[in-house]
Amino acid sequence: MEASTATTPQNIAVYVCSDGHRTLALTSTPETCHHRASRIKPYCGKPVQSLADAPADVQQKMLNPLKASKKASKK
Ligand SMILES: [Zn+2]
Repeated sequence: MEASTATTPQNIAVYVCSDGHRTLALTSTPETCHHRASRIKPYCGKPVQSLADAPADVQQKMLNPLKASKKASKK
């Protein structure tokens, strides 16, 4: 028995909604955001686009949600 190395599936794409929520595409392309603020909240449901196609500010939001929200509330 060989210890298998951790594999990263090649076919998983990352999608983000305009709020910077991340949705993974496992078997099919998601059309809406699957992010939930908590287990009792409904899904976010915003349209998603692939991370590569997302505008830079949305990518930043996804990568640094705290930083982005700080910036947004600075006004
Ligand atoms: Zn969302």
